[in-house]
Amino acid sequence: MLIVQKFGGTSVGDLERIESVAKRISKTVAKGHKVIAVVSAMSGETNKLVGYAEHFSDNPVREEMDMLLSSGERVSASLLSIALNEMGLKATSMTGRRAGIVTDSFHTKARIENIDPTSMQNAIDSGNIVVVAGFQGVSEDGLVTTLGRGGSDLSAVAIAGALKADLCEIYTDVDGIYTTDPRIEPDAKKIDKISYDEMLELASLGAKVLQTRSVEMAKKLNVNLVTRSSFSDAEGTLITKEEDIMEQALVSGIALDKNQARVSMRGVKDRPGIASDIFNALAKSNINVDMIIQTVGHDGETNLGFTVPKTEMSDAQAIVQTFIDNNEVQEAEYDSDICKVSVVGVGMKSHTGVAAKAFSTMADENINIMMISTSEIKVSMIIQEKYAELAVRSLHGVYELDK
Ligand code: ADP
Ligand code: ASP
Ligand code: MG
Repeated sequence: MLIVQKFGGTSVGDLERIESVAKRISKTVAKGHKVIAVVSAMSGETNKLVGYAEHFSDNPVREEMDMLLSSGERVSASLLSIALNEMGLKATSMTGRRAGIVTDSFHTKARIENIDPTSMQNAIDSGNIVVVAGFQGVSEDGLVTTLGRGGSDLSAVAIAGALKADLCEIYTDVDGIYTTDPRIEPDAKKIDKISYDEMLELASLGAKVLQTRSVEMAKKLNVNLVTRSSFSDAEGTLITKEEDIMEQALVSGIALDKNQARVSMRGVKDRPGIASDIFNALAKSNINVDMIIQTVGHDGETNLGFTVPKTEMSDAQAIVQTFIDNNEVQEAEYDSDICKVSVVGVGMKSHTGVAAKAFSTMADENINIMMISTSEIKVSMIIQEKYAELAVRSLHGVYELDK
């Protein structure tokens, strides 16, 4: 079999851990498999580099950020390859460029456009273990790019897809996907199998265990994806097609996203095209608007609220201010002390009352819901950030996810 094994930051967090990753790979090789290892930077490294850049600038040149941040993954890839060679195994490390990962030019959040697997394939064919520096690629004009935070997951899945690997294993510090973040709810249970769509919702709603785009890509390319621990031999969670899962839970998990902020505009001119003007202006600046609510208009005016990632709040504020300056909006309030809790499950497609239960759970805890959004398989609520953990634990209990 050809297996892609991705090792996250904590899994290569220090030299001993890199050593045990090398041992794990050697065991896989000893079973007769071919391995492509994809590595993250050592844990904390990427944040440290971001901090260095912030010493010089609040808004560092994006091309340079990619040059800087991609170095973390090169360190762990080369060290792992050195360790493997020392164990008598043949290994070679590759940057994103050598691995043939071509992206667009959207520096710091680049998208993979295609992968030329020739170098990786040749290295495998001549008996190498290939160690790829995750999180990075190269743009058409030859500059190094990175794939957004958590992007090594995407590197691994994309490589598994391009080389038609039999399996893509994501090794991390938990032994699989849990019903909620086990750091918040110690009674969270490991899920044996979860559908791509549910995993996609959980990831995009805040469960950082897998990067959202990696799940999207796994679904698109039908990659057999397993999340498991690099600290044990426990079995992990299979992420697969919905029809391959026999027993569907009504609710499969609770997600929490603390990277949310809310903008509330009052006295918005109630004229056709106003929403289009505001949200187009936000979109042009690449601001990710998530939830939107508008109240019923009154006396030619209305109220409009929306959420954005905390990191994009100041950009959003600048745009809203232009509407205030033009007298199209009377005033705006900005609130960063909020979070989004979400209930996810494909069972919602066929069962009623799931959302109502979420709302009454918040009511029982005296937590005010500021915004709500739903889809076929999720219910999301914006609440005050100080209630985040309480809300997650209460919902986890109400849907009996600890059973
Ligand atoms: P890595 O460095 O290996 O990429 P991450 O820190 O990105 O690891 O992701 C693993 C973390 O994701 C876990 O330590 C856990 O706290 C968090 N997490 C959030 N939600 C979940 C969930 N539903 N199941 C498992 N882990 C989760
Ligand atoms: N090192 C990068 C980050 O911390 C990518 C990754 O770990 O997946 O975001
Ligand atoms: Mg990660």
